[in-house]
Amino acid sequence: MNILVLNCGSSSLKFQIIETDSEKIKTNSDQELAKGVIEKVGTNEAIISIKAPGNENYKAVMPVLDHKIALNRIIDWIKLPTTHINGIKRLQDFHAIGHRTVHGTEHFNSSVKITKEVIKELEANIEIAPLHNPANLKGIEAAIEVFGEDIPQVAIFDTAFHLTLPKHAFMYAIPLKYYNDYKIRRYGFHGTSHRYIAIRYRQLTNKTIEDTNIISLHLGNGASTTAIKNGKSIDTTMGFTPLEGLMMGTRSGDLDPTVIEFIMKKENLNISEAITILNKKSGVLGISDISNDMRDLFKAVNENNDEKAKLALEMYTYRNKKYIGAYLAAMNGADAICFTAGVGENAANIRRDICSGLESLGIEIDDELNNQMVGGKEGIISKPTSKIKIFVIPTNEELMLARDTYCIVSGIDITE
Ligand code: ADP
Repeated sequence: MNILVLNCGSSSLKFQIIETDSEKIKTNSDQELAKGVIEKVGTNEAIISIKAPGNENYKAVMPVLDHKIALNRIIDWIKLPTTHINGIKRLQDFHAIGHRTVHGTEHFNSSVKITKEVIKELEANIEIAPLHNPANLKGIEAAIEVFGEDIPQVAIFDTAFHLTLPKHAFMYAIPLKYYNDYKIRRYGFHGTSHRYIAIRYRQLTNKTIEDTNIISLHLGNGASTTAIKNGKSIDTTMGFTPLEGLMMGTRSGDLDPTVIEFIMKKENLNISEAITILNKKSGVLGISDISNDMRDLFKAVNENNDEKAKLALEMYTYRNKKYIGAYLAAMNGADAICFTAGVGENAANIRRDICSGLESLGIEIDDELNNQMVGGKEGIISKPTSKIKIFVIPTNEELMLARDTYCIVSGIDITE
């Protein structure tokens, strides 16, 4: 089945074309046929970049005034005589479309086929997810207009995997009525990635769902850690929004909320300006004053022995350590720790610093294996004596979106 996977932001559209079916899912042999991004959607100078194996890389700058036009640009590219993708030359060659949809609130505990009722529910959720759901909805509406009602569409939620959190883990200790009246609670994000890690861990170790007891560290620009017990998410670091938890590229993570009021008074800011600082100007960027990208910090430390970059890295690894300890307690021990995403897959020194000093908990990293496991490699990086194994597993959220879309459209259970 040819699946078009879409990830729509307010001014961008990322896509992948993936061929998958039951056999390919079982053997991990799904085919990525093309992937691309359209940036600056809504302007006359949108940038289209597409890569497809066996094709020349495509790059163009042209007007793309909305998401519907963006989708039409992808179809235009497919129709070009120079584009050769196995079995796809027309709009009708797509069998289904999968949409990354950030927030499913408490309503959606797994991926769903998009219907009028689903769209209504997503619209109702905008109040809780004002940053993401409007853009996701734009993508869904544009895809229905461009592809018509006959090509089924599926919504896959970042929050769905975490709806298994027990109440004592998802509640905030604020007056209960705020949960009852407004559904203020920990939702958690990156669920599609953490679920992929759990599935891939099972494939690599031949474990059953019930036997999947891992701590998954998704360390990208955004970052979250999830405690997965018996295959289910039982706690996660992100909360009502992705701002809570770990220190991230530009987000502060955990913070005493009264700091916000204090900064607002001192700097004469309104609340949304203060929250923007916590989301966009804090974290690794805020402390280092250099960048949100770890590579820039490594350079600053190596070349200039930069103190601020060093502090940012120490804070970053310390927060990760603390959550590993917390989740080992929450789970009564784990079999493995799995690193993923940009930092988790590539920054061997960060992995080393997170794991060092945790030997008393049964976590022993092997420096040689750790240093080798970069650039998309997958495998174990702990010493044979390590009670808790350490893995690097490159995440693949788009693949999960395509597989869920295939399964939902084909009526196959997606719990495995
Ligand atoms: P996003 O959260 O935007 O999807 P990614 O998972 O791609 O991000 O992670 C991006 C981050 O990964 C970068 O900001 C950078 O800090 C880190 N990163 C990427 N490549 C490397 C590398 N080779 N070495 C160290 N860090 C890296």
